[in-house]
Amino acid sequence: MKTISIPEGMQTAVFVMESGALKDAAQVIKEYFPGKTPWIVADGNTWAAAGEKVAEVLKEAGFTAKEPKIFPAVPQPHPYESTSQELAKMITEDMVPVAVGSGVINDLVKRASGIAGVRYFCVATAASVDGYTSAGAALSVDGLKKTMPCPAPYAVLADTDVLKSAPPLMMAAGYADLFAKVVAGAEWLVSDLLGILPIDKKAWDLVQKNLRMWLKDSSNLGYLFDGLASTGYSMQVFNDSRPASGMEHLLSHVWEMEGLTCNGEEVSHGFKVGVGTVAAIRLMEFMLGLSEEQARKLARPCETLEERQATVKELLKKNCYGNPEKIAFDKFKHGEAAEERRELIFRNWDRIRHLLKKQIFSYEETKRLLTEAHAPVRPQEIGLNREQFYHGLFTAQLIRARYTLLDLLYEAGLLDEAAKILDIMFEE
Ligand SMILES: [Zn+2]
Repeated sequence: MKTISIPEGMQTAVFVMESGALKDAAQVIKEYFPGKTPWIVADGNTWAAAGEKVAEVLKEAGFTAKEPKIFPAVPQPHPYESTSQELAKMITEDMVPVAVGSGVINDLVKRASGIAGVRYFCVATAASVDGYTSAGAALSVDGLKKTMPCPAPYAVLADTDVLKSAPPLMMAAGYADLFAKVVAGAEWLVSDLLGILPIDKKAWDLVQKNLRMWLKDSSNLGYLFDGLASTGYSMQVFNDSRPASGMEHLLSHVWEMEGLTCNGEEVSHGFKVGVGTVAAIRLMEFMLGLSEEQARKLARPCETLEERQATVKELLKKNCYGNPEKIAFDKFKHGEAAEERRELIFRNWDRIRHLLKKQIFSYEETKRLLTEAHAPVRPQEIGLNREQFYHGLFTAQLIRARYTLLDLLYEAGLLDEAAKILDIMFEE
């Protein structure tokens, strides 16, 4: 059984990764979940890709597994908190849930196991998300996308033969999700500089130290899986998704809550995040092109509370975002506080630009790398028209307390001006 190293202090005890690793599933359970009865949870696709084989391996090893729970392949299972609650009721203390799948299945089982208070085992089927090794599950709660608290998997197994044969678009989605860490890092640097959220060196290094290396070759499955796994660890270390997620993830959440589809199909998390990443990079390039003096001149006056109330009401009128008003107004500054914050930003304008310049890829390079990885870069490629794209951009600022590039531009009075240049993204 070939394992890969795990940073110290993680909730995850073992990570098995090699060609043919599915055969090790029984040994993992014997060693890490002694005496427990396995319960496989999969969907039609992941059952065919790995679940059936895992069931066979367990049977041969003498386990009497509980009847597997297999969600249909079509329509795909949704990441609903209510589904996790139902799964949790089916888990007993003597069981080890075995999540066979990538994004949704893993999140559902992770949360269900957390609710039931048992450790679980994750069998990865695609390098498509960073959630294999992270604590917390991204689920919809009454329509609002939230990260629900729960421990990371106690054991993870990735068979590289299975990962390799996953649909290529899933790998492209994983690459785009990894690319988003460029934006997350840039925002964290700015938050740190402005005294909003200091950088945690350990969490930072897990994502950013090798990020450029991982991104330079999108066909390298090892880099991709390493990058996604390491990102998950950083979220365990920091106990929050700040190291891995910025405005591009908030855009993705807004579009998901609006039920975005493209040609009748749901758009993957990674693809929404990828388009959001391109937008974020373009916004940062806009900042790089402005001197402090130009930025000050361009800034519109700070919004009054009444103006902001009207804007927020208009943005949320679709009423499909849960109730983010409290979050939106907790972060809103007006009057003297708004002026002070703006002054802080402009005083640090050159330092901010310096940090961004060092951290990001150029807009052209970003598009080139994502396109090479077969990830979409234009809004219309994921079914977004101009109206929905821009609406998402302004709404994304309202749904989380996290300080993002959108907050920075808004507080500087530059968000409207900056948004205009994103029209370029729609061009062929
Ligand atoms: Zn993500």
